[in-house]
Amino acid sequence: MSETWNTKTKLVHAGSRRSQYGEVSEAIFLTQGFVYETAEAAEARFIETGTDEFIYARYGNPTVRMFEERIAALEGAEDAFATASGMAAVNGALFAGLKAGDHVVAARALFGSCLYVLETLLVRFGVEVTFVDGTDLDQWRSAVRADTRICFVEALSNPTLEVIDIAGVAEIAHAAGALLVVDNVFATPVFQRTLTLGADVVVYSATKHIDGQGRCLGGVVLGTKHFIRKVLEPYLKHTGGALSPFNAWVMLKGMETLDLRCRAGAETATMLAERLDGHAKLARVIYPHLASHPQAALAKRQMSMGGTVLSLDIKGGKEAAFRFLNALQIILISNNLGDAKSLVTHPATTTHQRLTPEQRAALGIGDGLVRISVGLEDSRDLLADIEGALTFY
Ligand SMILES: *Cc1c(COP(=O)(O)O)cnc(C)c1O
Repeated sequence: MSETWNTKTKLVHAGSRRSQYGEVSEAIFLTQGFVYETAEAAEARFIETGTDEFIYARYGNPTVRMFEERIAALEGAEDAFATASGMAAVNGALFAGLKAGDHVVAARALFGSCLYVLETLLVRFGVEVTFVDGTDLDQWRSAVRADTRICFVEALSNPTLEVIDIAGVAEIAHAAGALLVVDNVFATPVFQRTLTLGADVVVYSATKHIDGQGRCLGGVVLGTKHFIRKVLEPYLKHTGGALSPFNAWVMLKGMETLDLRCRAGAETATMLAERLDGHAKLARVIYPHLASHPQAALAKRQMSMGGTVLSLDIKGGKEAAFRFLNALQIILISNNLGDAKSLVTHPATTTHQRLTPEQRAALGIGDGLVRISVGLEDSRDLLADIEGALTFY
């Protein structure tokens, strides 16, 4: 692989390995194990595993390795470990290096399962977690301590699309001797160079844009060779979070079109946000690159495009939001995102139902808020679908 390749070339070619048949498209190595020529070779393999040498699919597999190398090349990471889902990646990135007595600081606005891992599971094992408003650097500064090991954020929060100043949080984390772990799903690997901004570890749910067509679960953790091989791998290979070779192949194929798909979705999302901004039935349109976004300048510095998700605050609360969802003809009601199909969700009654109304209010999740994951349909049809559903009530 050439280090000088640009993103789109890396997405198509990085990490490819060919078998003796010289196949063009990556092979799916549906094998759990690997054969050794001799007993001595087996003994040697267990002493020192090289990157080309595989022992068991829970530790690594050639198709999975191709996916790991491709996304590591894209992110500019030294190494990567692929996982069965995004949550297996988050779990690994947090649990692998923490022990009882350690301290973690996390932004409060998090994906529901991430919040559960931090707030309920880590705490059960004696890790202390402090939650802050992720957008307020002063809160990070006063929360970190000498025993803080990890600062955890989602680069763009769900569903209110708050933008975290990655370089700012990284500086605070590093001054305290902590690692900055960033869940970068909403910012996507295409629009934000999160490691370059100062993050130490980047985590993805590959289920989202990387697959991009709503088929397989998957995840990946990226970081230094030391973190991935010495901290993360021992934890993940013994606890069973490995990505299946078939799903790794789907992700590899997804990578080939990742740049095209993310750009197409973001172009449409930008157009929709601009056209819907100021609509009489909307209290607010939230999109990171929209001029009315309070952190638009930061979002433009960090992200080359505003992402594929926008949120609409519909006047009239839950009743109006439900009528809007039910009136949509193209955009499907689903809690997922990053699919070729545009999807809409009402966070207050689904993904964030578990929270109290006060907690939702603190996160800016009102009863009229809907989140739209913009897919690959014709942007004119999507605008007509949304405008039509807004006139319906
Ligand atoms: C979807 C998602 C996850 C979890 O990913 P799965 O693949 O569903 O396990 C974690 N963080 C964010 C921000 C997500 O959107």
